[in-house]
Amino acid sequence: MNVCSVCGREVAEDSELCIYHRHALDNLRATFDDWKRAFEIDWKEYLNRVHELDETGMWVREIAEHLMSQGSSSGLQ
Ligand SMILES: [Zn+2]
Repeated sequence: MNVCSVCGREVAEDSELCIYHRHALDNLRATFDDWKRAFEIDWKEYLNRVHELDETGMWVREIAEHLMSQGSSSGLQ
């Protein structure tokens, strides 16, 4: 059985992430499109800024941390 690479919960179908972090990553990616247009920032800078925001939820914060620690360009499924 595969477990979420962020929290160790059982993964969602066709994913490396649990349902919560999968959902957070989807949100993160969707919001990035808006930010990219508005601020012309890249993915890594975006992760940094989202992570620093007080209003960022726990799941999104955790997935952002995980992606930053990997130096990933959103490679997770
Ligand atoms: Zn998880």
